[in-house]
Amino acid sequence: PVTLLWLRRDLRLCDHPALCAAVARGAVVPVYIYDAQVDGLGAASKWRLGRGIECHAHALEAAGSRLILRRGPAALVLQELAAEVGATAVYWSRAYDPASQSRDSHVKSDLRNAGIAAKSFGGHLLFEPWTINTQQGGYYKVYSPFWRAVKDLPVETPLDKPDHIHAPSSWPQSDALGDWDMGASMQRGAAVMAQHARIGEAAAQARLHTFIAQKVSAYKERRDFAADDATSMLSEPLTYGEISPHQCWHAARQAAQSGAAGAEHFLKELVWREFAYHLMHHTPHILEKNWRAGWERFGWRSAEEAPEEVQRWTQGRTGVEFVDAAMRQMYVTGKMHNRARMIAASYLTKHLLVDWRVGQAWFEDCLSDWDIASNAMGWQWVAGSGPDAAPYFRVFNPDTQAAKFDRDGRYRDTWIAEGRAQALKTALSYFDAVPKSWGLSPDDRYPDPLLSLAEGRARALEIYENRDF
Ligand code: FAD
Repeated sequence: PVTLLWLRRDLRLCDHPALCAAVARGAVVPVYIYDAQVDGLGAASKWRLGRGIECHAHALEAAGSRLILRRGPAALVLQELAAEVGATAVYWSRAYDPASQSRDSHVKSDLRNAGIAAKSFGGHLLFEPWTINTQQGGYYKVYSPFWRAVKDLPVETPLDKPDHIHAPSSWPQSDALGDWDMGASMQRGAAVMAQHARIGEAAAQARLHTFIAQKVSAYKERRDFAADDATSMLSEPLTYGEISPHQCWHAARQAAQSGAAGAEHFLKELVWREFAYHLMHHTPHILEKNWRAGWERFGWRSAEEAPEEVQRWTQGRTGVEFVDAAMRQMYVTGKMHNRARMIAASYLTKHLLVDWRVGQAWFEDCLSDWDIASNAMGWQWVAGSGPDAAPYFRVFNPDTQAAKFDRDGRYRDTWIAEGRAQALKTALSYFDAVPKSWGLSPDDRYPDPLLSLAEGRARALEIYENRDF
């Protein structure tokens, strides 16, 4: 029998339960569908997905298979393709955001009505979000007890890559990836971002290996230093499923057992990702609305109400070096250091009093590791509106943070060119990356701060303290 393997955020061959099950059944036709969800992706995500699909298509070819590309509503495309190749089943790896879940449950019932078996598998998460419950049978709203609840649970051993992926008797026709034009919405020079991208399963495995062998021991001490290459940089391959969380978990567990000091801390970070999915599953409104309803009445400003502040924040021209370095790092590389994400987000929501959803949307457009659950949780954590959020009075001071986490100014110098006689290549590359319409040049004068940090902090505290809920 032939099985369609509907790929989404699982672009790998190793540790792929749906692929293994399809291979065990017989011939496999892997398919990627450009549907409304793909169409709606942020610019950097869509570009990065295109590169991931291209790379995975080559990996499938090397394994004797192919990746069929089709465009249209998933239910229709899958039924048509199943009829073409005589497939009697469609398998896929589960997705957890509300839009994907509603699409997938429609697809499942349409396929079943058409007499085609439809089955979803795990793989994207260590723990299915509905399997972790408090003693009272509810869900976790706070991270630490969530960590304690999962840290000793068994995590499935990663599956091997199948020896052989059986081909169908003839291959159906496929779209050309180039026709999908996945980079079309990138305003920025994709060539600049491409220099910072690590694409595909082999690159992800190599990075995990290097991280565990060379970096995990010092992870706990070094992970907050913004200019260091001290973190795993696996968020991007995790988001496209080029590596599985199980592979990361087991590698770090082994390192912990052999005495690597930072390994447990790394496991904890992997569990933050699980926690984000747990929250999204139980309270999906976290993606769009303040998790705590009262915050809907808070006095954050919209982009229309604070146009200059929002423009200068997005363009990395607030005049606060750490914030600007962070915003430029994201624009050029598609990634931003975690500490910098917290600081840039705190500056927007607290010093500038702009709604976190403005920042969430900009991150969604710019991050190549964009993850719907982690991004929403991160923003609400910083803004103070989420569960287990930072207390409102925690207003990060970007200068104090820089003094701690960018002591020698390396992060600043990596990303800021103005006013420097010999600006670094990375800092100059920002000006190659930004659209011409922004009218920016490395010869510009570095902007004065939008407002003094003390003034911004005092204003934020006053409004936060006097909120009526
Ligand atoms: P490491 O330090 O090596 O951590 C290992 C893995 O653990 C990461 O790859 C990631 O999968 C997970 N992880 C670590 N920290 C967190 C966290 N706070 N929340 C959830 N998972 C975490 N992460 C994304 O993957 N996509 C996003 O869109 C995203 N948006 C964010 C927005 C804001 C405002 C904030 C504060 C954080 C956001 N994060 C997001 C979380 C975090 O910043 C990144 O996961 C991390 O910087 C990725 O770098 P790394 O892979 O080197 O992480």
